Amino acid sequence: MNAPRLEIDLKKIHHNAKTLVERLALKGIAVTGVSKAALGAPELASVLMKAGVSGIGDSRIENIEAMRRSGISSHMTLIRSPMLSQVDRVVASTDVSLNTELEVIKGLSNASQKAGLVHGIVLMVEMGDLREGIMLRNVDDSVREILDLPNIVIKGIGTNLACRSGVSPDDENMAELSRIACKTEAGFGLKLDVISGGNSANLQWALGGSDTGRINNLRLGESILLGRDPLNRKQIRGLFTDAITLIAEIIESKTKPSLPWGKIGQTAFGPAVPASDRGDIQQAILAIGHQDTDPGGLSPPELLEIIGSSSDHLVVGCKQSFVSVGTEMTFQLNYSALVRSMTSPFVAKHYLPIE
Ligand SMILES: *Cc1c(COP(=O)(O)O)cnc(C)c1O
Repeated sequence: MNAPRLEIDLKKIHHNAKTLVERLALKGIAVTGVSKAALGAPELASVLMKAGVSGIGDSRIENIEAMRRSGISSHMTLIRSPMLSQVDRVVASTDVSLNTELEVIKGLSNASQKAGLVHGIVLMVEMGDLREGIMLRNVDDSVREILDLPNIVIKGIGTNLACRSGVSPDDENMAELSRIACKTEAGFGLKLDVISGGNSANLQWALGGSDTGRINNLRLGESILLGRDPLNRKQIRGLFTDAITLIAEIIESKTKPSLPWGKIGQTAFGPAVPASDRGDIQQAILAIGHQDTDPGGLSPPELLEIIGSSSDHLVVGCKQSFVSVGTEMTFQLNYSALVRSMTSPFVAKHYLPIE
C-alpha cells in the first residue's frame, strides 16, 4: 500500500460523531459537523450525516464545492467569513455563512438577488477571543442594516472561542450570547433559529451540567476526528482517539552515535536542538517530513522516539531492537499534524469503510 498514508477509520469517526450528537441532543444542542480538517472529503461528510449532524460546515468554499460535486446535498454552512471576491460561489453552494462584515453581507445580498436565491446569515459576535466577530455594541445597528437587505435572512447569531487567544467558553460568556439572542429577538421581532455557541472547545461547558440557555448549536471538527478536547487535549470519555492514524515507511536503519560531530550551525528548520550523549543508538529514518506533516504533532509507537526531522525525513531512535528497511510505523496525530497531512499531496488517504 502507499506510504506515507493516513488511515481514516470511518466506523470510529461515525461512533465519535454519533456519541457527541446524542450527548448534546439531551441538552437541546444540534451539531454542525466540520469537515475542513479533511478538506471536505465526501466520505467524511456522508458519515457525519449518517451520525445525525444537522448539517456540514467548512471554512473553504473549494471544499464545499467539492462536496456538492460529489453529491453531498446536506445543509451547508461556510464557517469563515466569505471573501468579497467569492460571494457568488458562496450563495451558489451554501445555505448559510457566518458573517461579521456588512460590506460582505451586502455582496452576498447582491449575489443572491442575481442568482434568484435567498442566503442565510449567522452573525458572529466577539466574546473575547479576538478572532472574528462584531463588537457587542454594534449588534443592534448591524441587525438593523441586514434586515433591510434583499435576499438575505438572519438565521441566527454565534461566537467562536479558544482558537486565537485560548479564551474558554464558560457560564458567563455563553449566558451573554443567550442574552444577546433574546434581546435581538425582542428588539426586532425576530426568531433566531441558530444560536451557535462555538467549536469543540465548548464541549466541557456544554456537557458539564451548566444551564446551556439558548445555545442550540455547536460546530464540531477536532473532537469528532481526534476524540480529544482541544482545551486540554485529553481523551473525551467514550470516544476513539485513533480514528485517524499516519503510517510511514522506514528507508534507513543503522547504528549511529547519538551526538553529531563537526561545527554546529542552524538546521533546515532553525537552530539545532542540542542532543545528549547516549553513546551509539539504533537510528532509523522514515520517509516523511515537514512537507507531509507537523513532526512535532506526532506520537510515535511505544518503542520509537522522534529525535529529528527535516523536509522529507523523520529521524527516530529505536529503544529496543533493530527495525528493518521497508517496515511501516504507525503514528497518532494532533490537530496540527492532521491538517498538514490531509493537505499534503504526498500523503495518501485511505478510508476504512463504515461496514
Ligand atoms: C474550525 C472551526 C470550527 C471547528 O473547530 P473544531 O475545534 O475543529 O471543533 C468551528 N467554528 C469555526 C468558525 C471554525 O473556524
